[in-house]
Formats: sequence, C-alpha cells, structure tokens
Amino acid sequence: MGNFNKTDSPVSLLKKDRQEAQPFQGLIENEGHAYSNRGLSRSTRPAVYVEPISYADVQAVVRDADRFPTPVHPVGSLLSVTSTIVNDGGTMLCTRKLDEIMGLELDERGRQIVRVQAGCRLKKLNMWLQAHGLEIPFQAEIGEASVGSVAVCDTKESLLDGSGYFSAHVLALTYVNDGGDLCTLSAQKDGSVFHEFKCSFGLAGIVVECQLEVRPATLCGSDISLVVYKSSDDLAKGIIRLREESDALFAIVFLHQLAVFFDQRYKAGLGSATPATSQPACDQFRIAKRLAIQHGFDGVEVPQPKGIVYSRHDFVNEYWHPSVDEPRLDFQYYEHDIGKISRVIAESFKFMPLNHFQFYLSMRQASVEEA
Ligand SMILES: Cc1cc2nc3c(=O)[nH]c(=O)nc-3n(C[C@H](O)[C@H](O)[C@H](O)COP(=O)(O)OP(=O)(O)OC[C@H]3O[C@@H](n4cnc5c(N)ncnc54)[C@H](O)[C@@H]3O)c2cc1C
Repeated sequence: MGNFNKTDSPVSLLKKDRQEAQPFQGLIENEGHAYSNRGLSRSTRPAVYVEPISYADVQAVVRDADRFPTPVHPVGSLLSVTSTIVNDGGTMLCTRKLDEIMGLELDERGRQIVRVQAGCRLKKLNMWLQAHGLEIPFQAEIGEASVGSVAVCDTKESLLDGSGYFSAHVLALTYVNDGGDLCTLSAQKDGSVFHEFKCSFGLAGIVVECQLEVRPATLCGSDISLVVYKSSDDLAKGIIRLREESDALFAIVFLHQLAVFFDQRYKAGLGSATPATSQPACDQFRIAKRLAIQHGFDGVEVPQPKGIVYSRHDFVNEYWHPSVDEPRLDFQYYEHDIGKISRVIAESFKFMPLNHFQFYLSMRQASVEEA
C-alpha cells in the first residue's frame, strides 16, 4: 500500500495526525457475538464489530489497535459465499451506514460520474440513477451487494453492451490505508496500482467512496424459455445457438435434468422506465425469479414471457437472509473461455453421478457458476 497517493479530495480535510487519539462515534459491539454470511455457510467471531458513520470513524478504528484489534477487515452486506468474511479475534468493520449517494459530476476527462459511498447497496444506487435517467454499465442481479465490495471483488452478469465487471466502471476510489490515512486512486493518475487495488478483495485498504462512470439509461428486451434436451451435447449446442441469436444470453443449466432456463436479451433503445404494456409481465417474472434464486430453485415455477421490455434498474432484486431450515442458493464461481463451453458441459455431465448441481452461464463472459 506504500505507493498509493494520499487524497487531494475534500475528504482529506478529515485527515488527522496519525498519533492523535480520535473519538469513534459509530456502533461498537465487543461482546463476542458470532456473525454469518447470508447463506450461513461461514461464520466468524470477531473480537469487535463496528459500524462507522463517518470516514473519521474508519480512520479511528484503523489507528487504535488496542480498542480495535487487527486485522481490521471491511464487510458490506456479508453476502459473500467464501471465507473472505471470516475474521476471528479481529475487527469486523461494516460499511452499511456509509451509504450516501453524493451526486453527479464530470471527471477530468469530461466523463459523467456518480460519487457514492462504499456501503451503498446496488438497488439503492440503481433506483437513484433511474430517477436521473442514467445507469452504470452493469446489470446487477443482487441488489444488496455493496458498492465498496463489488468495486474490489470479482463480479459477473450478462450485460448487453459492456463489460460484466462492476469494477471496470469504477474510475476512482477513496480508501483508508493501514496507517489510517485517507487516500485516493484513479485510473487517470495511478494506472496499474489502481487496477491492482480493484482486485484486492478488501486486503489493500477500506474503500469509503467510489466514483463510477454513468451513461444515459437504456432499456432491455428479453425472451424467456425453459428447454429440455436429449443429451449434454445437444444442450451445449443449444446454448451456443441461442447465444448467437441474441445480443446477450443468460442461462441457468440444470445439468442433472438436461434442462436450461434461458434469458435471451436484446437491446431496446434508450429509456429508464419499463413500458406500461410490459410492466405486469415484468413484475410477475422478476418476483418469480427472485423467489427461485432465494430458494435455490427449489419448488418455484418461473413464467416464460416473450418480448418483454424493461428498465434494467427494475430487475435488480432484493433477497432476505434465509434461516437455517430454508432452502437457499449457495455457489462457487468459475470463469471459462467461451470456446470451451461444450467441453465444460460434457465433462461436468460425466461427473453427474457424484454431483448434483446447476450451472449459471452468463454468456457475454462465459462464466460458469456452480450452485
Ligand atoms: C443470492 C446471491 C446472488 C448473487 N448474485 C450475484 C450476481 O449475479 N453477480 C455477482 O457478481 N455476484 C453475485 N453474488 C455475489 C455478491 O455480489 C458478492 O458476494 C458481493 O461481494 C457481495 O457484496 P457484500 O457487500 O455482501 O460483500 P461482503 O460479503 O460483505 O464482502 C465481500 C468482500 O468484499 C470486501 N469488501 C466489502 N466492503 C469493502 C470495502 N468497503 N472496502 C474494501 N473491501 C470491501 C470484503 O472484505 C470481502 O472480501 C450473489 C450473492 C448471493 C448471496
């Protein structure tokens, strides 16, 4: 972290001398409670859990190792399906109260950006941008993921016209480093150091604020279908054919049933509101899809509308944290080259007697998510 620049943004006014004792105003819990991720597959018992309410609070935590034992590790919504949230004996710093959307600006190159705090959820950000007729070039499914998390971690989706990585649209960020200093990094000034930071999974510093590229909002069209195939080879060919027919393809493969749920997506021009004619079918589909994902595709029937046109903001979903006895989606995420899709399907199918799993395929990126 030594090479990163200290900030020259207005937030640097909050910078304090490193030795100075700083008050902490946010929530502190240090009674040994356990915290779990959303899927309840991981849990951890940090010595201290904090919810800062200002950047100065984040700095205070990092600077006071006696009150806030190291490692200090940030979390957003604790949705992660990996051990990344585990921090036994350290300080878990949750950004959920740093969730302000500060507004629109032009950056040094004249690009329109939104400045937003790290704890802001994607659904909140999408609704705000929708009201301003704008969008981030990232079609989120999971509305509760925090901006700070997806700015520095891997993401996937099946966007019509852009990269599937949320972090690709982060043009600058402000973070607190291991010395408690507020620092900024930008694509413009810091090149590879900035890009490295965006792959840091929370290990290079605590993001408190991001600047995201925005553009005029666009509409999306979808044809939804569920297709059952006779063989894994037919299934792989079917995916490739439907991908060629659409602008982008999102496919959920139920390999043990040789069935695929397809969302063939098409560009539908500029706009930020779902057309009234499409609204009922869109609502019905979105709610059923959300329940299916919520329940791990267990016992939920999803409609198969054709020709729906919608605002992508409307399709960012919210999920509740399931209880122990509720079925839920847990998954691992792999990315494969699109040219290897037939082989991935064939080899996974051979593996089937030992494993029972579904595939998510976001075909713009050819990513495979095993649930
Ligand atoms: C039902 C479900 C559906 C999902 N669908 C998708 C999907 O369609 N596409 C997709 O890409 N992902 C998806 N995910 C994964 C999810 O987007 C990621 O796990 C995301 O990182 C969660 O955000 P979070 O705020 O909960 O992060 P957390 O789980 O709280 O943290 C995850 C990581 O981010 C780091 N981090 C968090 N905040 C900060 C910060 N301020 N500064 C630095 N590092 C930080 C943490 O240290 C940790 O390493 C899904 C998850 C679930 C449970």
